[in-house]
Amino acid sequence: MPELTGFAVIGCSKCRRIMSADLSYATKTCQCGHKMDLSRTRLLAVFASADDAAQAVMQMQERKNTGFTSAAEYSRPLNTE
Ligand SMILES: [Zn+2]
Repeated sequence: MPELTGFAVIGCSKCRRIMSADLSYATKTCQCGHKMDLSRTRLLAVFASADDAAQAVMQMQERKNTGFTSAAEYSRPLNTE
């Protein structure tokens, strides 16, 4: 199985914060303290560079904050795993 590389956009299942995660690491700890196993976390998007991932995170946060996309919509896929 080829290793997944790059930078993923993920959502914390606990606090629903959107953040980027370096896929070269096995886990990502959210600012709320929730530790996520990246192999078991739904990846919302994957980018080759950290900059691209960070930009996507900002766009998703903006949409969430303006109500364009509800937080529930982002959390739904996370709850299926
Ligand atoms: Zn969190």
